[in-house]
Amino acid sequence: MSDKLMQVDKCVTCSVKLVERGFVRFPCPNCGEGIGRCVSCRNQGNAYVCPSCGFGGP
Ligand SMILES: [Zn+2]
Ligand SMILES: [Zn+2]
Repeated sequence: MSDKLMQVDKCVTCSVKLVERGFVRFPCPNCGEGIGRCVSCRNQGNAYVCPSCGFGGP
């Protein structure tokens, strides 16, 4: 993981802090910005939108 990715501490969808187990961090497929998603957003299948470039995905 890159340093940038490690700095992601909030879910990009609901802004909850990523403290619960099961959250994911991944780089934006489009621009590489770090994106975090919490457990509940993953379970609900909420779409994410990259805060940097606006790229969205499931
Ligand atoms: Zn969330
Ligand atoms: Zn992006």
